[in-house]
This record gives sequence, C-alpha cells and structure tokens, in this order.
Amino acid sequence: MTHTTLFYSIIAILVIEFIIETTLDYLNSKRYKDPIPQDLEDVYDVTEYQKSQDYKKINYKFGLFTSSFSLILTLCFLLFGGFEWIDTIARAVSDNNIIIAMVYFGCIMIGSDIITTPFSYYKTFVIEEKFGFNKMTKTTFFIDKLKGYAMMATIGGGLLALIIWFFEWAGTGFWIYAWALVAVFTLFMNLFYSRLIVPLFNKQKPLEEGSLKNKIEGYAKKVGFEIKNIFVIDGSKRSTKANAYFSGFGKEKRITLYDTLINDLEEDEIVAVLAHEVGHYKRNHIIFNLVISILMTGFTLFLLSLFINNPEVSKAIGVTQPSFHAALIGFGLLYSPISEVTGLIMNYLSRKFEYQADDFAKYTFAAKPLISSLKKLSKNSLSNLTPHPAYVFMHYSHPPLIARVKNLKA
Ligand SMILES: [Zn+2]
Repeated sequence: MTHTTLFYSIIAILVIEFIIETTLDYLNSKRYKDPIPQDLEDVYDVTEYQKSQDYKKINYKFGLFTSSFSLILTLCFLLFGGFEWIDTIARAVSDNNIIIAMVYFGCIMIGSDIITTPFSYYKTFVIEEKFGFNKMTKTTFFIDKLKGYAMMATIGGGLLALIIWFFEWAGTGFWIYAWALVAVFTLFMNLFYSRLIVPLFNKQKPLEEGSLKNKIEGYAKKVGFEIKNIFVIDGSKRSTKANAYFSGFGKEKRITLYDTLINDLEEDEIVAVLAHEVGHYKRNHIIFNLVISILMTGFTLFLLSLFINNPEVSKAIGVTQPSFHAALIGFGLLYSPISEVTGLIMNYLSRKFEYQADDFAKYTFAAKPLISSLKKLSKNSLSNLTPHPAYVFMHYSHPPLIARVKNLKA
C-alpha cells in the first residue's frame, strides 16, 4: 500500500471512531431520563437523583467538547506536518536512533499533555469540585503530573530504548525479544506495583487491628484464602469516590481498600466487597487477565514487526525519513480498530468475571450486604443507573448496577 492510501486510512479511522463514540454517548444521554428500575428505587432520594442527572449532563457535554478538540488537534497535526516537524527537532539533537526516538516521543507526550492539562484541570477543579468529589489540592495536581512525567521517562523510556536496541540488533525478529521483555515487565509490575509505584502517589498502611480485621480474617479462613496483606490507602487525598482492588498473586497478593470505602460502608458491606475481590482470585481471573494481556502484547508486537520496516508507514504520517519511531506512530494509528475490537472482547469477559465474583461473594458470604454496598458506591459516585445497552456493550468493564443486583437477588 502507498503512503497516500495509508494516510487516508488513518484519517478515516480517526473520523469513524469519533462518529461511533459520539453516537454512543448521544444514545446513552437519551436514556438519562428513563424511569429508575424498581430494584434500584432506594439508591437516590429526590435531591440526589437531580444531582446525578446534572452530573451526567455536564460530563456528557464536557466529553463531547474534549473529544472534538482532540480529533481536530490530531487531524491538524497530521495534515500540517506536525510529525515531520518534531522529527526535524529530534534529529537536530542527536544522530543516535535511540536518543532521537526518546526526544521524539518525549516531545509528543509532554506536548499533548500540556495541551490537555487545562481540560483535566477543569474536570478536577470545576466539575468534580462542584459535585463535592474533589479533595485534591492544586499542588497535588501538579506534583502528580511531574511524578507521572518522571515515571514515563524512566519506565516508558527505558522499555522503548531496549526495544529499539533489539530492533537495531535483530531486525524484524526484534518482536520476540521485545515480547519477552514486556512479558517479564508485566509480571514484575503485577507483583510489585503496590510496593513500588503506589507509594509514589499514596500512603498505604496495613488495616488496623479491630472488629473489621477480625471479620475479614474470619471470612478469609472460612474460604481457605490466605491473606496477610490488607492495606488501607489514602484515596481521600484526591477524591471522595471509593474503591477496592486486588493485586499480585502468590505471596505478593494483596487487597487494597480505600479509606473512603471504609468510611462509607458498614463492616459487613466491606467484607462483602472483599469477598467479591477474593472471588476474582479464586476463579483465576487475575492469572487469566495476566496471560491474555501477555498474549495480546505478543500479537501486537508481531503485527508491528510486519510493518516496522515498511517506509510507507512512516511516510503515511508525513515523516519523510523512515524510522522506527515514526513507523511506530503510524502503526499505532492504523492498529486502533484492532485494539477497539480486542478492548470490546476484554470488556465482555470482564463483565462475565464480575458476575462470577459476585456469585462467589453471594455463596461464600451473603448477597444482601454486597447489594447494599454496590448501591451505596453507586450513589456516592452519582453513577448512571440507566445506561444504554449499546454503551454498556462497548464501554462497561462492569455490568450495570441493575444487572448485578438482579443477579445477586436471583
Ligand atoms: Zn470485580
């Protein structure tokens, strides 16, 4: 294929994806006023319901604005030679391909982050603030950004440098080595994320002795789940929204509870949430997700190896001197329909897994406290109780509340 065909394919992909997303958002917004299902009538009172309606509407408008802005920006960048311009800057810095690629991606990432910062600032300090969710100070907001850059530069930069080095050394066979590298890295991160990365952003401490810990340990013993690491994280430093998650496996497995979750829920409800997380582990969802993500990386890298030496891919984004980094961007844009499809499959599986984890909690603990905790969490995040099925199909990694409640009651 010539670079002109590829160029128009990229434009078409960007525009079609925008149209699909916008249509889905629109369909979803048409369901905002739907009557609330009977099983969920006790989630909101009248004022809270109104508040949730306002929250949905403002987020819908804001989302439309940001996605339009980002489409226009990307199209302009492609049409007016933005990628070539950055390539010239990067090539002026060094003759070394690895350094050129670092500067190239550094410019693109920091540049696009600076352009989108006003949006995330507005989202946090205007929208989330207005609805009482935001707890972040402006200092935390900007320090988070700097830490994010530093992490990106060391981890992202390090991985990319190694991958390009593999490419220069092994040619298109680089993908096997890159795959091994990313697989080891993924495994390592899964095990040590909570120990190495989380402390950069949050404080976490072991759950205090007391009745909650006793109840959790009692439950864990009952289902034969050995857990030594239950941590409480200061999520309240940033937002009032609550969460809990599971990470690692083997000896490194740990459950992290947000302090906001502990404040919002009764002890029984917390144990129910925890039972759901244990369900994910017991049903091997953690390992399954890990294996799938490693296989998917291999597939993507293999495809990349078929395109990386084709100069037309670099030229498709307007870069005249073909290179690994330019072809990588061209490939990334062309690959996005495939990643949409794999994302869809992953969401579908994830929703299946949520039901399985809910069932596990239902049979090993109880359905009632899990239902009430899910309702409280939905209420406290002003979530949408009447999403459009097409929107759920495309975007939801968790089934909508009504489906989970029905399943738990069944
Ligand atoms: Zn879950």
